[in-house]
Amino acid sequence: MKINEIKVKSILSKSGIYGIDYSINPYRGCAHGCTYCYARFTHICRGGDPRDWGQFVNVKINAPQVLKRELTNAKKGNILISSVTDPYQALEGKYELTRKILEISSRKQFPVVILTKSPLVTRDIDLLKKFRYIEVGLTITTLKESIREIFEPNAPKIESRLNALGEIVEAGIPNYAFIAPLLPVISLNEIKELILEFKELGVDRVMVDKLNIKAKNWITINDALERYYPDKKDEFWRKARSPVYWDRVRKYLVELSKNINIRVDILF
Ligand code: SF4
Repeated sequence: MKINEIKVKSILSKSGIYGIDYSINPYRGCAHGCTYCYARFTHICRGGDPRDWGQFVNVKINAPQVLKRELTNAKKGNILISSVTDPYQALEGKYELTRKILEISSRKQFPVVILTKSPLVTRDIDLLKKFRYIEVGLTITTLKESIREIFEPNAPKIESRLNALGEIVEAGIPNYAFIAPLLPVISLNEIKELILEFKELGVDRVMVDKLNIKAKNWITINDALERYYPDKKDEFWRKARSPVYWDRVRKYLVELSKNINIRVDILF
C-alpha cells in the first residue's frame, strides 16, 4: 500500500449526484479496494491501471484548512462525504481529516450525508449529533463474509458494519443502509434476509442500487469471478447485463418493502 501526503487547492466539489450539492473526498484512492468500485475512474483518468485501485491512498492533509476557506463563500447546500473514497478507511484513524471536516461543517451548519463501510464512523457520534440535518449511511451488500472477502477484500467485516449501524440508530442519528451494488451472486432470498436484518436494527430507510459496469470495473470483477466463481461467471454477466433480471429484482424489492413495512428507495 502506497500512502502519499498531498496538498490540494480545493476540497469542496460541486456534485453531479441527484439531490446532492457538494461532495468532499478527504482521500484520493481507497484502501478498501472493492472489486466493483467505479471510483477507480479517478485513477484511470490520471493514466493509472484499473487493477491498482486499492493499492494507494493520497491523503489530502490540508483539506480542513482549505474547506474552512471555501465554506466562507459557498452557497448553503448539502455535502456528501464521500463520493469517490471511504471517509472512514483505516487511515482516518490516524489523520482525522473527516473528523475535522465535520467539525468545520457543523459550525457552519451545512447539511451532511455520510456514506462509509467502516465502523470508525461511530467515533464521531458526538459531532454527528451537532448537525441540524445529517444522514449517516453504511454500505452492506451481503450478509456472507465469503462474498464480502471476494468483492470488498479490504473493507471491514459485515458484523462490524451492522453493529456500527445499530449504534448510529441507537444514538438517534438519521440513517440509511446502502445495498450497492446489488451483486448478481446474491439471491432474492438473501436480499430479503439482508433487508430484514436492517428492519431488526430499526434503520430509517434502505437504498438499493444495481451493479453498474463503469470505469473498467468489469476487469477486476471478472478477475474475481474467474478466481472464485468460474462456473457462475457466465450467469453473473448474463444477469448483470439483463434489463429483465433487474426489472425482476426491482419488482421484488417493491413488494418486499410493502410486505415487511420498511422504506426501500430503489436507485435503478
Ligand atoms: S469503499 Fe467505496 S470508494 Fe472505497 S473501494 Fe469500496 S466502493 Fe470504492
